[in-house]
Amino acid sequence: MRSSEANRIYFDRAADQLDLNENMRQLLLTPRREVQVQIPVELDSGAIATFIGYRVQHNNARGPMKGGLRYHSQVDLDEIRALASLMTWKTAVVNIPYGGAKGGIALDPTSLSTRELERVTRRFVDNVHDLIGPDVDIPAPDMGTSSEVMAWIMNQYDKFHGFSPACVTGKPVEYHGLPGREEATGRGVGLLTLKLLSRLGRRIPGTRVAIQGFGNVGTHTAKFLRDAECRIIAVGDATANFHSEKGLDVLEMIRYVHSNGGALAGYKGGDAISHQELLFCNCDVLIPAALGGVLTSENAGHIKAPIIIEAANAPTNPAADAFFDEIGVTVLPDILCNAGGVTASWFEWVQNRQHYQWGMNRVRQELDRILGEAFEQVWQLASTKKVSLRTAAFMLGVGRVHRATALGGIE
Ligand code: NAD
Repeated sequence: MRSSEANRIYFDRAADQLDLNENMRQLLLTPRREVQVQIPVELDSGAIATFIGYRVQHNNARGPMKGGLRYHSQVDLDEIRALASLMTWKTAVVNIPYGGAKGGIALDPTSLSTRELERVTRRFVDNVHDLIGPDVDIPAPDMGTSSEVMAWIMNQYDKFHGFSPACVTGKPVEYHGLPGREEATGRGVGLLTLKLLSRLGRRIPGTRVAIQGFGNVGTHTAKFLRDAECRIIAVGDATANFHSEKGLDVLEMIRYVHSNGGALAGYKGGDAISHQELLFCNCDVLIPAALGGVLTSENAGHIKAPIIIEAANAPTNPAADAFFDEIGVTVLPDILCNAGGVTASWFEWVQNRQHYQWGMNRVRQELDRILGEAFEQVWQLASTKKVSLRTAAFMLGVGRVHRATALGGIE
């Protein structure tokens, strides 16, 4: 199933509950603008390579459009379109004044040198600088992109428009970034996992957690949950997966990954397992924090975790989601669960516009407050309407965008 079809199913469930008519559904689902650009660059070898870049601006009813930029070999327009609409509902769920967008370049970042990645990034900005901007559409990091990539984006954008640090978020702290932005998505995932465990009446210390993906989101989630005395029993990335029933040494694994080019391969502190064994392992909480579409109708029946925390975007396809709902597996949906990143990006944007520096304590405090409030609203709505947390989150998000659209009027 295509990513946008999966999204449509989740959207329609919420739209049915909200009693939205077909014309309004069409308006809310249709992206404002989709761009595809050619990015020719000279490689270090002197050869020319041509990449394809995308930016989809889905909706700006509630404010400038906001969304990550993904570098991955499987990036395509349909996936970016689906992720852009998720951003619209996500910013609305946490009630920050943004719409939704997403971008990506189809490339494998591990196969390019830093200089090559910089050239690709700057060339992409050359193509889209007139379409983005602090009041229009603000990119941020996503899979395969880092704070360094965001710094190149700001620097290249400045060449056309002058000093504009708010044109992109997720920048290095020393280059107009926000203390705490890098950890924010994982911190939010960890925080909301604890809130969910408490709401479900489960004891937090000793909770057995498995995490797929050990990049930005996976590492910070693991660290937060370890600090809360959860036991991280399985961790994996694209290169290797490890298990230890007594708990993995998360801090040592993070140090290892940082010294090993971002990869877990070769780590010695746990039993090596397969990608599938990680997903199917006996744990209390399973956290997909890598790619989308990993939980499907084929493998859902093998998942043993009673709680799934969607740190990644769109990790569960609708058939698997329906199955989990039916057998009582609780799924904390992506549009709430990983909203910590965009929320901290908003703080960074505010800080840049005020030419002021926020401190780490303030960032954490505000982040925890906003995510906590959104969680309670989603939880209450799910309880009152007797719907899943995903449908409740979509109802909250889609409902807010619908109201803003109606209030703004359509000429
Ligand atoms: P990242 O590039 O820092 O890390 C991705 C991780 O996934 C790496 O450890 C990589 O090895 C692993 N991975 C890739 N393919 C895999 C596979 N087939 N099997 C197992 N592991 C695999 O990316 P990130 O920023 O941590 O993003 C992870 C997910 O979280 C994505 O779905 C992204 O859209 C979502 N997300 C990220 C942010 C953010 O602020 N970075 C915010 C919201 C959502």
